[in-house]
Amino acid sequence: MTDPISTAVTIVGLLNNALGLLKGTKELAKNSGNAELKERLSELQDHFLDLKDRILDLKGENDKLREKLDQQQNIRRSGEFGYFFNGAESDPLCPVCYERDGKPIHLPKAIPWSGGIMRLCKVCDHQFWEKPQQPQGVARTRSSWME
Ligand SMILES: [Zn+2]
Repeated sequence: MTDPISTAVTIVGLLNNALGLLKGTKELAKNSGNAELKERLSELQDHFLDLKDRILDLKGENDKLREKLDQQQNIRRSGEFGYFFNGAESDPLCPVCYERDGKPIHLPKAIPWSGGIMRLCKVCDHQFWEKPQQPQGVARTRSSWME
């Protein structure tokens, strides 16, 4: 498969060559005194410049997608809590943000909370319990509080 980035670079090079030729041709048209020919060549030049802009936009978009793809290829799910990890990083990524939104959001450190241990994603507010929270006090039964 041809590398799309080198293809885009080649296309931009070809367009620059065509634009160079067009400039020279415009000079010839100017010297010939043919106003209509000169006008048409100017329009052609504008179209080439628009095309060049569009190709550069597509190249930028392609670069971003490639970067995202490279990033996703390094992300693996592992460990008992089902977290995702980016490469050799030890900080886990939020499974909700990653699976639902495709965003590699790091989770903050696990903190003690209500007798358990959890991480709270600051983006989606999902709680990940690494140790379940302990019940607070003795649970009352219906009969005990009705007496
Ligand atoms: Zn999240």
